[in-house]
Parts: sequence; C-alpha cells; structure tokens
Amino acid sequence: MIRQYELVERVRAYDPTADEDLLNRAYVFSMKAHGSQMRASGDPYFSHPLEVAGILTQMKLDTASIVTALLHDTVEDTVATLADIERLFGHDIMRLVDGVTKLSRIELQSDQTKQAENFRKLVLAMSEDIRVLLVKLADRLHNMRTLHYLNNPEKRKRIARETLEIYAPLAERIGIQRMKDELEDLAFSELNPDARDSILMRLAHLRTEGTGVVDRVMAELRDILDKNGLGAASVSGREKTPYSIWRKMHLKNVTFEQLSDIMAFRIMVDDSDECYQVLGIIHGRYHVVPGRFKDYISTPKPNGYRSLHTTVMGPERQRVEVQIRTRDMHEISELGVAAHWAYKSTQPVTLDSLQYRWLRELLDILEHAQKPEEFLEHTKMELFQDQVFCFTPKGDLIALPRGATPVDFAYAVHSAVGDTCVGAKINSRMLPLRTQLQNGDQVEILTSKAQTPSATWLELAVTGKARARIRRFIRLQQRTQYIDLGKALLQKLFRQEGYDFSDKAVDGVIKIFQAATSEDLYASLGAGLVSGREVFNAVFPGHRQQATSLQTVDEKIAAQNKARAKAKGLDSPLPIRGLFGGLAVHFARCCHPLPGDRIVGIVTTGKGVTIHTIDCETLDSFNDTPERWIDVAWEADAETAEIHVGRLAVILANEPGSLGTLSTVIGKNGGNITNLKITSRSRDLFEMLIDIDVKDVKHLTNIMAALRATPVINSVDRARSR
Ligand code: MN
Repeated sequence: MIRQYELVERVRAYDPTADEDLLNRAYVFSMKAHGSQMRASGDPYFSHPLEVAGILTQMKLDTASIVTALLHDTVEDTVATLADIERLFGHDIMRLVDGVTKLSRIELQSDQTKQAENFRKLVLAMSEDIRVLLVKLADRLHNMRTLHYLNNPEKRKRIARETLEIYAPLAERIGIQRMKDELEDLAFSELNPDARDSILMRLAHLRTEGTGVVDRVMAELRDILDKNGLGAASVSGREKTPYSIWRKMHLKNVTFEQLSDIMAFRIMVDDSDECYQVLGIIHGRYHVVPGRFKDYISTPKPNGYRSLHTTVMGPERQRVEVQIRTRDMHEISELGVAAHWAYKSTQPVTLDSLQYRWLRELLDILEHAQKPEEFLEHTKMELFQDQVFCFTPKGDLIALPRGATPVDFAYAVHSAVGDTCVGAKINSRMLPLRTQLQNGDQVEILTSKAQTPSATWLELAVTGKARARIRRFIRLQQRTQYIDLGKALLQKLFRQEGYDFSDKAVDGVIKIFQAATSEDLYASLGAGLVSGREVFNAVFPGHRQQATSLQTVDEKIAAQNKARAKAKGLDSPLPIRGLFGGLAVHFARCCHPLPGDRIVGIVTTGKGVTIHTIDCETLDSFNDTPERWIDVAWEADAETAEIHVGRLAVILANEPGSLGTLSTVIGKNGGNITNLKITSRSRDLFEMLIDIDVKDVKHLTNIMAALRATPVINSVDRARSR
C-alpha cells in the first residue's frame, strides 16, 4: 500500500506547488471513513482509492483529481456525505466526487452491444468535468486489475464486458492508449482466457524460435536512419496486444499465421519535419503497400492523436507497419487528454472549456462514426482535405466533397438511386438524409419506388450532379403540383364560405391577376404568390364587404373552431407526399410532428407548407388567417424508411442506476438517443431533454409508455416549445 508521505512525494515530484495539506487530509479522511471495510482480495478497502490515486499520479494529474480519487467511494460506501466533503474539502472537490459517484451508479444493464453507444454518450454527458471521467477510468482500471478476486463469475463477466464496451472505448476516445490497451487486455483475459493464452503462446514462439525478423528489421531501419544523418532517431519494435490481434483475426476471418502485421515498428524523432524526412527515406527504400499510408500529423485524430502510419514491403518481403512520430506526439498518444492538461491547469476543465472544443465535438463524432480511427483517412500528400471517402456496401469507394450527405452519395451511385432514395444506413445505423458523411463511412441507400426528389433535398445536396438532377425534376413536377395545390386551396375556401366552386368563376378574374389561364392562377396560388382570399374576393366582391362588416368576434371564433374541427376531422385529407412532392414541406420545430400525429399544414408565402401537430400552441397565431390552414395527413403507406426526431422531456429520480435504466428502456424499444441534455439536476431529480430517432409517433408512444412504466421515471412528455 502506498504510504501517506509517498503519495505526497509522487505528486510533488511533478507539481512542486501541490497542496500538501489537502492531500494529507484527504488521505486520513478516506482511511478513517472506510475503516475496517475489506476488499474481495482481503486487503483493507482503503487500498483501492489509494491505488486509484496512484494511477492518476502516473498521469501527472492535479491535486484536485488526486484528492477526488482518494474520496471517490466515501459517499457511496461509507457514512460520509457530500455535505461533509464540501465542508472539509471545498465546493470543487465536492462537485468532482459527486460526479464520480453519479457515474458509478450507471451500469450496463443489458447484454446487448447495441446499447453500448447510448451508454458511452450517457457517460460523456454526465462527465461535465473531464477529471470526473479520468478518475472514473482509473477506478475501473484498478477494479479490473483486482477482478480475479471476485468470487461471482457472472459478476466478473458483466464487469469485463462493460469494460470492453464502455470504458476501453472511452479511454481510446480521450486518447489514453496505454489505459485502453490494459483495460482491453484485462477484460479479454476474463472473457476469453483460452484465446488470449493461445495468442500469447504463439507470440512467445515467434520470439524464441522465430527467425529474428524483428531484430533484423530494427537493425536495418537503424542503419538507414544513421546513413541519412538521423542518428538521434530511436527505433523500437512492438507486438500488437493479444486483444487487437484476436479482433483482427475475427474481423478479417484469418488465422494467426495469416496475419501479416503482428509487429509494428516505431521511429521517434525530435520534430515533425524529421517525421516527413524519415517517411521519405522509408518510402524511397521500400515498396509502399498502397492504401495504408495515413497522415495523422496534418490531420490529427479527433482524440488528438498525431503520427504518420505507413506499411511497406520490408526486408524479406514482409509487410511491416511503421509509425513515425515526435517524442511529444508519443507522450500525447500514451496519455491523451491528461498529457494536454496535466497538473498545470487550475481551472475546472469542463466540456465547455475552449481548448476542449474537440471534446464537445466528441458527442457528435460518437453519433456519426463507429470507428473514429477511420474518421480521417486522407493524406497531406494527396491534398484531399476537401473530400470525404465513403464505401458502398460492396466496398466500392466513392469520393465526395466535404459536407456531402447521403443524397449526394445516392446520386453518385446512380441517378435512379438518387431519385428514389428514402433513407440511409451509415455504418449499419439508420441516419437522416441530412447527415454529413465522414471519411470511412459505409453507406447503404434505401430506396422506394414511390419516392421522388424533394425541394428540401436542395438544402442537403452539395454535389453539382445531385443538385442538377433535383432541380430538373422539380421544374418538371412543380408546376403540376402547384396547380393541384392552388386549386385545392381555392376549392376549400369556396366551400368554407358556402359557395360551389367552378373553374368558370375563376376564369372570369384571371386578368386581374395577370394570369393567362386559370391554371397559371392556380399555380401562383400554389406557389404562395397570390392568396386564396384575394382570388375569392375578386370573384365575389360583394361577399367580402358583407363578411368584414358583419363578422363579430364570436363569429370569428366560430369560424376558427370550424376550421380546426375540420382539420381535426381530416375529411378528404391531402397526403403530404404526392401533392407537395415538389413543394417545400417544413416540419415545425415547436412541436416536432411525427408520422401518426394528427397534423395541420400552414401555407407560408414563398416558403411552402409548415406542418404542425394539431395541438401545437403556435397554431393560435394563425387563428386570424383560416385560409392558410390546410388539411394534411401522413401518407397511408407508412413504409417510409425516413427517421424522425422525437424530443422528450423527462424527469427522473436521481438515484443509483436511474440513468442506466432510462437508456436501457429506450434502447430495448428500438430508440436511438441522438442527443441528451440535462436541463436541471438536483439532489432528488434530473430533468432532461432527450432526442430520439424514431420511425413514427407510435414508436415514440411505445417508448414513452415503457418509460412511464419504469419506477424511477417521474414523468415523460413530448417536449414542446414556442
Ligand atoms: Mn471505486
């Protein structure tokens, strides 16, 4: 066990200004609080927070992190309270300890890997201060190192799986490679000890009986570096970890013997210019394996990782992976966010801190990329910064401009695919057509014969080919559709005012509107250039006077109610698709209408039609213009693959496991959390807004019903805003 003075010395070794008194008090407080509690290993419980603190000193974290590590289990497992912590250690430490305690209450409650992504998002959303996440990761690392002491095999497996699915990827995403490797290895040895042993045995065999390839390659690399005046560069050879080898064997469906790059070589130099110099030497000396070169120096990975990767046909025609980086880059790759920040910062490092902009972007990346390491594939040399490369399901590569969406992808595959696309699976996940594609995304376009290009696609498409096709289609379709819509609007207005509609009546007034034919007038109406009321008043000039002079407030309300009742009754509703195919249809952001909701359209001059739910409060502001209301309904054929965002306002109890339960229930019911915002948190309750990708309102209602049936959830409502 680390002694009190040892811990203080370790911290002071890298941070001479560390608050010694605070560290000492935390040490004593935690030791007393845990008292005679024991770990499964038979050690005193206090050894655990102490070891966690020790792990964090290796990462050179600040005093507050070390103190938090010492105290991290006191609130959950001893009689100490948050109030005690605040009184003795101050508000900041209390906040950090509270954060770690809350994270510890989230548990992966289902075995479905599908859930992992939602959980990772949840953990990140909960970690408002990056130090909370770092302490939690160190906590998990120590628990994994001592996992074998647990007697319950079920529990061991669950913790190992959770580590593999949640915590190792999180460590990777904040760039702590060393911790990720160790977490994976510990989990692997619990979940699949035989496979791990067998791989270790073969690695050992290669080393002893092998042909000494590693040493020869290293010697040769050393030699050519020396000859080129790069004597200061260091060369090392490294085996891949058993888990990464095992995963690769599974992924590529190959045997151990068929794996070509079990060894990786690393060359470290002093500055990035030398990195490129070394690269030039290697590429000049050996044949380059195409497609394997990656320049993470000019375009670092989202987690901050920088290095050059290349694979060459090395000595004896072996494929050899070489990583080239500076020593600084190496430190960052081993320590990640901790190296950026270490003990130097006195400010709380939150997701909002400017230098952690990328961390905030992490939530976005989590949504869009299943393999962040494939996030950026392009290279400095090839100058492809402005492009993204995506794969078809068959593995064909399609290059698109940056910012391209699945609509662009669909048109790039084939015009007919573009014209009929209804949705996209990106890396096997349904994502909206507005999603921007990222390097390495695998995109599968879903099509429907019933689909036609929509004007809204013009906002989504960036490629010339897609935009030209969409415009052409709209020009052909729009006029017919405007005519149909204009006529329908006018018929409705006539009916509402108690008149029979006839084309002839309209023919009489076309000159007033400078239209050549009644169809032209309907088209202007449909396009929102002329209002139905204007045309009606022109046809019945007398009616207008009567109506305006006699209409009382009561009558107005009666008319509105009639319009609403009618809309609610949905008599002869117009399908949204078909009639408005070429017209811009907007879904109101105030009420987030979903297929299956009762809906109403509001015609907006020059903008098209905005769809609201029938109970949306925003509709009140259109009470004075009933002629702008149109009856709409969702197409009866709800077989569209389009995904809609439903927003829920949820209040749930702030108690152990409640957030995990929430995420599990949503996932079990097929919902994918795309955004999660905690709007208020108190001792007893969390209030949050959750965006969930759903198929339709029935889907969302199912999720809501399931949530309502969950004891820890106090209330669930569709979120409505003005
Ligand atoms: Mn712990």
